[in-house]
Amino acid sequence: MKNTSPRRTMRSREGAEIAPRKSMGQNFLVDESISKWIADQIQPDDAPLVVEIGPGMGALTEHLVGRPKKLVLIEKDYQLAPELQRRFEGREDVEVIAQDATRIDLRPWFRHGPFKLVGNLPYSVGGEILKHWLTPPSPVGCAVFMLQKEVCQRLGAKLGDDGYGALSLLVQKDWDVEMLRIVPPEVFNPRPKVDSAVIRLTPRDPASLPVFDRVLFDRLVRMGFSQRRKQLKNLLPEPPRSWQELVEALSVAASVRAEELSLEQWVQIARWYENRTEADAGQKASEVFDVVNERNEVIGQETRGEVHKRKLLHRAVHIFVINSRGKIYLQQRSHLKDVSPLKWDSSAAGHLDAGETYAASAIRELNEEIGIEVTATELAAEIPAGDNTDHEFVELRLAKHDGPIRYLPEEIATGEWFMPEDIDAWVEARPQDFAKGFVTCWKAWRSQALH
Ligand code: SAM
Repeated sequence: MKNTSPRRTMRSREGAEIAPRKSMGQNFLVDESISKWIADQIQPDDAPLVVEIGPGMGALTEHLVGRPKKLVLIEKDYQLAPELQRRFEGREDVEVIAQDATRIDLRPWFRHGPFKLVGNLPYSVGGEILKHWLTPPSPVGCAVFMLQKEVCQRLGAKLGDDGYGALSLLVQKDWDVEMLRIVPPEVFNPRPKVDSAVIRLTPRDPASLPVFDRVLFDRLVRMGFSQRRKQLKNLLPEPPRSWQELVEALSVAASVRAEELSLEQWVQIARWYENRTEADAGQKASEVFDVVNERNEVIGQETRGEVHKRKLLHRAVHIFVINSRGKIYLQQRSHLKDVSPLKWDSSAAGHLDAGETYAASAIRELNEEIGIEVTATELAAEIPAGDNTDHEFVELRLAKHDGPIRYLPEEIATGEWFMPEDIDAWVEARPQDFAKGFVTCWKAWRSQALH
C-alpha cells in the first residue's frame, strides 16, 4: 500500500493544484488496487447505468469508465466538476452532473430501471446521501459505498452486534446490508482519523417481512432508542391492550430494552400498535362485481375469482390525483396484490362494486386506498374493455389534492408525486414497470392533454 503524507496537495490531470477540502469530505483514494477492487464490487461490466457519487479526482472513475453502457458522475465541487466535464467531453457513455448529491431530483431516474450506485462518499454528508438515495421509493437496484467503518457497522449490525441500533433497523427494513471489507487510513490523502469500510446494499425482498406501517415503525424505533439505558416500556406510548400482552406476544421480558429486539420483533411491535392481529391476506376472491356485455350493460354478478378466471367483462375506475404544482401521485402496488404486484399504478384504482356507479367508486377508492376525502371527481376518459385493460371497461377520473397521502401497506408498497413529463419518459422507456391498465389510461389522458 502506498504511504501518503497527511493533507498534501495533489495535482489534477490538467495540472491544477488541488488542496483537498475538509468541508467537502475530500479524502481522495491514492491506492490503485483498492480503487479497482471497489469499482469491481458494483459489477459494472455491461450494466445499463452506473452512477458514481463524488468522483473527485477520478480514483474510482478510472476503473469504471468504459465498463457500463452509461456512467453518470455527480460531483459538487466547483473546481473538480468542470475538470471532469472537460476530461470526458465527447464521450457519449459518460455524463458529468455538477450538482449536490443530497438534493438532486431522483424522480427522472426511475426510467432507467433499478441502476447501480457507487461512491467513496464524502463522510461529512454520508448520512444525508444514504437517506436521499435509499429511502423508498428508490430508483437504486444496488449500492456499493465506502464510509467510516463505524457507520458501516451500524448500518449492517444485527441483534447482538456492536453498533446495533436505530440506524440498523431503519435501513435494514428496506435493504440487505453486506459488510465487504475494512479499509485503513493509509490509502487516502489526506488520511482520515478512523478506519473506513465498504458495504453493499441490495433491496430487501418485500415478502421477507409481514406488512407494517413504515411511518409508525420509524417513529417507534426512534422513540425506543432515544435513551438506550431506559426500558422500552418507559419510552413507547401505551400500547393497545397492554404492555404485558405485547411482551408476551414477543416472548421477551417486560423490562426489555430497544437494543434487545430484532428487526422482526420491531416489525411485530409496529403491527401491534396498528392493531394488526391477523396474518397478511391477499385480496378476497369472494368480492362480487357486476359483469357486463360488450356495450358495458350489466348482465349479472360474479365473484372476483370467477371474473378473472373466465376473463369476464367488468368495470373498473382509475383516478389520477393531481396537486397544485401539476404533479401526479403514482402508487407502487403491494407485493400481496394478486394482479400486477409491485407494478406502478394510478393514484388509486379499483373494481366497481355490484350496483355502484363509476363516480361513487372513484370517491370510495380514493378514501379506502389513499385516505383522501373528495366530494367529486372529473371524468377524463372512457376506455373500452380489451386486453390492454384486463377486460375492464374503465373510466379515468381526475381529483385535485394537496394534502398528505395515507395508505394501507397491504394495498400499496410506496408512492410518489411525479411530473407528467417524467412519467411520459418512464412509460416510454420501461412500460414493464407499470400495471397494464395504468399505461392505457396514461396514454389516453396524455393524448388528450397534448392535442
Ligand atoms: N471518489 C474520489 C476518491 O475515491 O478519491 C473522491 C472521494 S471523496 C471521499 C468525496 C467526494 O465527494 C469529493 O470529490 C467531494 O468533492 C464530493 N462531494 C462532497 N459533497 C458532495 C455532494 N453533496 N454531492 C456530490 N459530491 C460531493
